[in-house]
Amino acid sequence: MATVMMDLNEIITKPKEAIYQRKAEFVIENLKKRNINAFYHRTAAESIVEICKLIPQKATVALGGSVSVMQSGLLVALRSMTIELLDRYRLGISSEEVERIMLRGMTADVLVSSCNAITADGKLVNEDGRGNRVAGLIFGPKKVILMVGVNKIVPSLEAGLSRIKDVAAPLNCIRLGYDTPCTHTGFCDDENCHPPARACSQITIIESNRVKDRLNVFLVGEELGY
Ligand code: SF4
Repeated sequence: MATVMMDLNEIITKPKEAIYQRKAEFVIENLKKRNINAFYHRTAAESIVEICKLIPQKATVALGGSVSVMQSGLLVALRSMTIELLDRYRLGISSEEVERIMLRGMTADVLVSSCNAITADGKLVNEDGRGNRVAGLIFGPKKVILMVGVNKIVPSLEAGLSRIKDVAAPLNCIRLGYDTPCTHTGFCDDENCHPPARACSQITIIESNRVKDRLNVFLVGEELGY
């Protein structure tokens, strides 16, 4: 049994860890050229420690809709901090309160979220249904922190846009119970997808950041969110 475990480590774990790290290092160099701070940690736990250090005590912290933030444990960590967390995931929260929180989030000190895709050359590609997340990434909160699993690194802009339609949006639609074509078939059918159910209402591409230290990407060597 011990031999089998060692072989699996050599065959699966080590090559995966190596490619995750190499891809992350390549992307980080390109993000920095775009004035986007970027870091790599092998695990979400290591990343969370560094992210929390970046958030000042008593800061107002908004959350952009993100499965990665929930899955990684970052949400739990934020809840334990001495900050004003605009917690849209609080149990029993009303839709009116979520609306109010989303509006306040536009002027928060910090926005914490993830990204649907990061291209090898360092562009941040996102889709949104309501628009509050992508709006906050672009303007408003003084600091933006994105926790992004390596599964979201893509070779090109085209691949990033495909990732949204093939992976991110269908899974989000299923999670949220939206009545969209991709919910029923798993495939996008753009022409036959209409609001209010349609999740893909805004698609944004961030090509660079003008305000020093505003955008911060934490790449994690794990598969996080979708
Ligand atoms: S456009 Fe509609 S069908 Fe296509 S991925 Fe988005 S929500 Fe799904």
